[in-house]
Amino acid sequence: MSTDPFPATAPDGAPPPLAMRGVGKRYGSVTALDDVSLHIAEGEVVGLLGHNGAGKTTLMSLVAGLLRPDAGEIEVLGVSTAREPRRARLRLGLAPQELGVYPPLTVRQNLRFFAELAGLRRREADRRIEEAAEPLGLAGLLERRVGRLSGGEQRRVHTAMALLHRPRLLLLDEPTAGVDVETRARLLAHVRELAAAGTAVCYSTHYLGEVEDLHASVAVLDHGRLVARGTIADLVREHGDGAVELTFSGAPPPLRVPWPVTRAGETLRVHAREPHLAAPEVLAALGDALTRLVNLRVLRPSLETVFLALTGQRPQAPGEPGAPAALGETAAADATGVPGATGAAGATEPPAGRTVEAGRHG
Ligand code: ATP
Repeated sequence: MSTDPFPATAPDGAPPPLAMRGVGKRYGSVTALDDVSLHIAEGEVVGLLGHNGAGKTTLMSLVAGLLRPDAGEIEVLGVSTAREPRRARLRLGLAPQELGVYPPLTVRQNLRFFAELAGLRRREADRRIEEAAEPLGLAGLLERRVGRLSGGEQRRVHTAMALLHRPRLLLLDEPTAGVDVETRARLLAHVRELAAAGTAVCYSTHYLGEVEDLHASVAVLDHGRLVARGTIADLVREHGDGAVELTFSGAPPPLRVPWPVTRAGETLRVHAREPHLAAPEVLAALGDALTRLVNLRVLRPSLETVFLALTGQRPQAPGEPGAPAALGETAAADATGVPGATGAAGATEPPAGRTVEAGRHG
């Protein structure tokens, strides 16, 4: 794992927006987070990556004070979430994964409700609503009932709720799940603007391209452990061999090549620093199995290959077709890395998932 290149305090000695030290969380026999230490600096966007169940939502819920850690400490701008949960919460904004909007109310009413819960007076709340609505493309929708908006529009309302009190730490849990290209671009642009103005952002996603677009640094969770933390460039340098990825109909053939080979289901990956140069030799080594080759990809060293190296699986965005089976689901999986080895909301009730509480969402 790379050492944390981000200092625990700002140059002026101020505490960082987020400091987690040795944080652990279990649900019964499931360890969701294990000894996680993570800092996020002012103006920094951290792309929080990991497969389903890696612990991303648990991490955000702990930081937002919705869950208590079993071990370790969490501070938001120096305020302990255990000792002063309310003060800590008011410093952060959380847009959870589950949409938490009130369908019968208009966009303005939804936003006003959360602004008031966050302690803003009416006039200030109205000002902040205009401020949050404009960059998210909601200005023309303020008087519309949320229940009549599209899914992407509802998610923008949901995200705006987390911004109304101008939190210095923003937690966005898969904010672009299920949204269209335009909504995604708008949201990413706004996150960049917020970061440029000093907001620290923890942004979980399954879309690695978003992390690159955000110029974010990266934290990778794998089975509850933080397995990498750094800039994309650092991680690519440290972990980012490229790969030639070959998918076959049926079982992959044995492959004799001078690079490590791993297998996941019907896919082989030949790990090489310069995969485009390795590709011809890999193809030549296939022999008769070439006829069963159904897909070939050359993966240049990138965030995707870092992710692959650290977790053994490709990232799989929700709904992405054709992503290979997870290694854990593949009995024949082998990631030995040995050279040449193969084979191997209701009308009156708050919507589920949102506690109506100041600081939860705003
Ligand atoms: P996803 O990408 O699917 O949202 P995630 O990285 O956010 O996943 P978490 O939701 O934090 O992962 O889950 C981490 C682990 O804890 C998983 O094994 C999950 O099944 C388990 N878990 C989460 N919430 C609970 C709960 N309330 N009770 C029991 N186990 C839970």
